[in-house]
Amino acid sequence: MTVSPYFSATYAEARAKFLEAARSAGARLAHYRNPGRGPDGEELYTDTAWVGPADAERVLLSISATHGVEGFCGSGVQVGWHESGLSKDLPKGTAALTIHAINPYGFAWLRRVTEDNVDLNRNFVDHAKDHPSNPAYAALHPAICPRGWDGTDIAETGAVLDAYAGEHGAFALQTAMTAGQYTHPDGLFYGGKALTWPAKTLLEILKRELAGIRRLAIIDYHTGLGPRGFGERICVHAPGSPGLARVESWYGGDFTSTALGSSSSAELTGVNSEGMIAALPHAQVTGVVLEYGTQPIDAVILALRADNWLHAHGDPASAKGRAIKAQIRDAFYQDADDWKLMVWERAIETQRLALKGLNQG
Ligand SMILES: [Zn+2]
Repeated sequence: MTVSPYFSATYAEARAKFLEAARSAGARLAHYRNPGRGPDGEELYTDTAWVGPADAERVLLSISATHGVEGFCGSGVQVGWHESGLSKDLPKGTAALTIHAINPYGFAWLRRVTEDNVDLNRNFVDHAKDHPSNPAYAALHPAICPRGWDGTDIAETGAVLDAYAGEHGAFALQTAMTAGQYTHPDGLFYGGKALTWPAKTLLEILKRELAGIRRLAIIDYHTGLGPRGFGERICVHAPGSPGLARVESWYGGDFTSTALGSSSSAELTGVNSEGMIAALPHAQVTGVVLEYGTQPIDAVILALRADNWLHAHGDPASAKGRAIKAQIRDAFYQDADDWKLMVWERAIETQRLALKGLNQG
């Protein structure tokens, strides 16, 4: 079986494929226009597709491109799920809502962040209160985001980060860098000072589409952590909660938890599942992040630092800019048949288990 044609090389191609596949599956579509433009001047949209009964109380929700450039993966699954006819095969009384490219700017520009340099999956904190503090990030910020990006800059700042990892451990460095920070708007993993366009759009979609539901399964597609091609199901619920117990029951124990320290991800602040659960008090929500490995984490972090430098200090259209864009694309999307097949098989199994779980007692 080849699933590679479901996957796209650009945001524009992914959007066209998604709209066509969802239309031919008989989905009801909705479109949300982002105020920005893509690198070729193209318009940017988040699109949604609903299949199944309009009044379904049980819904499977899938989301792609929370982290822009990671959208190639989730989009491929969403396109294939509609195009293959699988989206028509839903249990009775169950519907599916597919959100394609919730962060279309990041997808089109090959960036993990939104148009505001915000990490959407750190943006869902209460911005009226004090923001979570991350002093370890602040201390490392000058090394993470240097003003120059030639061989010497990379070597010197890399040595600072290596020294931190040597003293505190590699996972402590990962946590400092990736947990989320709210003090350096020009930095990495910045959670913002207000809800971003994708965050507000996500909440608007939930309000419009999911007001009458009772049970919701969420699968949020991500890439960049863990072994190449493996899809890690990261539970979004706290240890000891009914949500975690449902994830355990639905997925047969085949999941991880950042709070329990069993995930390749550090524990994060302001993740979008928190915002979604708070916005759906009438629904029982059972969510996982499906996180696929691409390259070793050092290579992924280096690509993110390079891309951050490029948009702060460089020129994306230059030769160096194009090389960095190729680097970040490869760090979050493996354009290879074997990787796409692994992504597809794990995703379809996860969606099947979620649909089954939604209809358990
Ligand atoms: Zn991600």
